[in-house]
Amino acid sequence: MQYDVIVIGSGPGGYVAAIRCAQLGLKTAIVEKYNTLGGTCLNVGCIPSKALLDSSEHYHNAAHTFTTHGIKLENLGIDFGQMVKRKQEVVDANTSGISYLMKKNKIDTHFGVGSFKDKNTITVKKADGTETEITGKNVIIATGSKPSALPFLKIDKKRIITSTEALNLTEVPKHLVLIGGGVIGLELGSVYARLGAKVSVIEFMDGIIPTMDKALGKELQKVLTKLGMEFYLGHKVTGATVKGKDVTVTFDTPKGESKELKGDYCLVAVGRVAYTDGLGLDKIGITVEERGRKITVNDHLETSVKGVYAIGDVIKGAMLAHKAEDEGTLVAELIAGQKPHIDYNLIPGVVYTWPEVAAVGQTEEQLKAAGVKYKTGSFPFKASGRARASGDLDGFVKVLADATTDEILGVHMIGPRAADMIAEAVVAMEYRASAEDISRMSHAHPTYTEAMREACLAATENRAIHI
Ligand SMILES: Cc1cc2nc3c(=O)[nH]c(=O)nc-3n(C[C@H](O)[C@H](O)[C@H](O)COP(=O)(O)OP(=O)(O)OC[C@H]3O[C@@H](n4cnc5c(N)ncnc54)[C@H](O)[C@@H]3O)c2cc1C
Repeated sequence: MQYDVIVIGSGPGGYVAAIRCAQLGLKTAIVEKYNTLGGTCLNVGCIPSKALLDSSEHYHNAAHTFTTHGIKLENLGIDFGQMVKRKQEVVDANTSGISYLMKKNKIDTHFGVGSFKDKNTITVKKADGTETEITGKNVIIATGSKPSALPFLKIDKKRIITSTEALNLTEVPKHLVLIGGGVIGLELGSVYARLGAKVSVIEFMDGIIPTMDKALGKELQKVLTKLGMEFYLGHKVTGATVKGKDVTVTFDTPKGESKELKGDYCLVAVGRVAYTDGLGLDKIGITVEERGRKITVNDHLETSVKGVYAIGDVIKGAMLAHKAEDEGTLVAELIAGQKPHIDYNLIPGVVYTWPEVAAVGQTEEQLKAAGVKYKTGSFPFKASGRARASGDLDGFVKVLADATTDEILGVHMIGPRAADMIAEAVVAMEYRASAEDISRMSHAHPTYTEAMREACLAATENRAIHI
């Protein structure tokens, strides 16, 4: 079986690369070691977490905000089994959708573990032990990532768990001890906090979502604290032990004192590492970075071996599904002889808590460090008519613009539907809009997007109308 392109891994990087290759007339195969397509994102990542976030948000609203809307409910309860079943149905619908897309685009799917025999030959080892060989003029590695572990803390997948198990629990934890205040941990932590669990977050850094603009982390912490989550910031986990159904997590305070928390589950969410096991990279001399074992690539996402590319979580950069997708498209178009480009500064980041957090471009801390002269405009949702109507008063939109040219350099928002609203900022920045440009454009009333316009007005000579 000879192909123009073989893609290893069917996550958002791999399947998008395969579809784009097929669209460009390249004979394409995709290799996947799991039984379903879609990778981490569709099976144990973006999609199942959002399904549980939506279900838990409905319950939380029914329990806490319906009465303010004049809606009375009796006998409200949680059928957690049904919640998880629905989540799985959402996953199944999405993964079978990818199978349909592979067939529609005439892409051959080979289930099994792919490994390099040489730079053009991939051996696919199926679950039953049988092997087939396929050859390709080009190979795209899109094997993704797996959860990181702490070297001193054994994940037993029952009581000490990763995000994968947290998406498949059979009960709502009573007390979830969450190690890590990053995106994945906080999303899953908020699911269980909404369903009634006590959630304690232990984070080594002095703020949550530490890679985002500091103002976002502070506001998110305030909101999640209102939800009942508790935070131990600047604390360092030293170990965890399981006894029966109890997990005891030990950690050091910033002053070096030792503390412990006892829960029934401990979720370790301390990031993810590139996954290259079994690929046989050393056989063909592909180099990986020492830290994180990420595959080294050049600006064209080509590895140290000509004709072998790598995309998504397995290479440098943000571990995000849409970044992987963009890279999949880029490599397919490069192979087809086009000259595509990705602006990594304009890849948005989102946290799907409620309110949602979303950002694109430079943070205030980055602009300060780079010595860029900037101005700020902020608008709080409590001054938005739309947010008052829905009762979503937490959060704000913050716009950072160049002090001289007024070009928008970064947009950071926490508020209702921020995940969708950030698209306006991406478009604006792609076209190098100024804050004044956005503030002169009509925004439908009443919508949450008016907060973006008001923040731009605030950045433009402090001209916000509603504050
Ligand atoms: C709980 C959670 C929530 C997340 N939520 C979001 C979100 O809301 N938004 C967002 O942008 N990102 C989110 N992410 C991150 C997102 O899932 C990843 O960035 C994305 O899946 C990376 O895509 P990828 O194609 O690089 O790899 P993956 O999706 O990891 O896919 C890699 C695939 O390669 C296969 N594979 C590996 N080795 C081999 C081999 N040798 N042979 C054959 N197949 C192989 C794997 O089985 C897997 O199917 C989340 C992640 C988690 C864990």
